[in-house]
Amino acid sequence: MIIEYHRPQTIEDALALLARTEPVTLPLAGGSALNRPSAEAVAAVDLQSLGLDTISKRANYLDLSAMLTLQTLLDFFHSSVADDHVLQEAFKKAIQHEATYNLRQVATVAGTIVSAGGRSPFTTAMLALDASIRIVSASRKAEAEEIGLGDLLPFRTEMLRGRLITKVTIPLNTTLAYEYVARTPADLPIVCAAVSRWSSGRTRVALGGFGSEPVLAFDGPESGGVEAAAISAYSQAQDEWASANYRKEIAGILALRCLEQ
Ligand SMILES: Cc1cc2nc3c(=O)[nH]c(=O)nc-3n(C[C@H](O)[C@H](O)[C@H](O)COP(=O)(O)OP(=O)(O)OC[C@H]3O[C@@H](n4cnc5c(N)ncnc54)[C@H](O)[C@@H]3O)c2cc1C
Repeated sequence: MIIEYHRPQTIEDALALLARTEPVTLPLAGGSALNRPSAEAVAAVDLQSLGLDTISKRANYLDLSAMLTLQTLLDFFHSSVADDHVLQEAFKKAIQHEATYNLRQVATVAGTIVSAGGRSPFTTAMLALDASIRIVSASRKAEAEEIGLGDLLPFRTEMLRGRLITKVTIPLNTTLAYEYVARTPADLPIVCAAVSRWSSGRTRVALGGFGSEPVLAFDGPESGGVEAAAISAYSQAQDEWASANYRKEIAGILALRCLEQ
């Protein structure tokens, strides 16, 4: 339940509010998760007036402001970057798989990463891309800290207490492939794999479809061992949706299918 609503005009004001311990104070982005009925009393700090909704290309990187909606990002990839860019198709597929059109209008880049479970296609793709997260806090006088998504995901709740994600950066000098298995094409995945590959040969494999967050199965200077790493990463991935035996086998197949692309 939201018991207080604030709409600060500057990042400093937002951080001052978020630094409070009483009442529990959280950033409000699209609100699609935070607005859900909850027994917890929270104060909401609406980020919509902070200008955090830009997208910009910087050499081989794309800077995505935290409040950018998934649909704006999808439209950007539909229309721009480089028409021949190999990142495009798989990234668009993962964004579309994350949420329906209506929800994509509301859900933001940062809100989706913060609230993602293991079955989040977008977060799986971002993990394969080695996305970098920019975080600011009042105690560091709004001085930014950069952290890899893989280091943030398992510790999101603690690491983001009183802090704000302002930007998420992804590389553009890599290829991306995304494949999944789900009960229906529109369902969230039972297993999904995202593989990014740099021209140097560096290869990263992220798996989703299970647990509290997507996991990094492989990050190496070349792609040898990708299948075994994917199988191993999901060897205990058992829940009500699928057995571990099924998941590990599919994880290996999807990782290889991504590599072939
Ligand atoms: C109808 C519906 C169906 C859905 N189905 C699914 C589903 O099947 N699977 C699934 O995983 N999710 C599902 N969701 C959740 C959805 O993916 C998330 O609600 C959405 O992506 C969150 O984005 P948001 O911008 O709305 O975040 P918000 O709701 O605004 O925030 C989400 C969390 O992120 C924090 N946060 C937001 N921005 C920042 C920031 N800049 N810095 C630090 N913390 C921040 C908030 O404090 C909050 O804790 C569904 C939601 C709806 C409404």
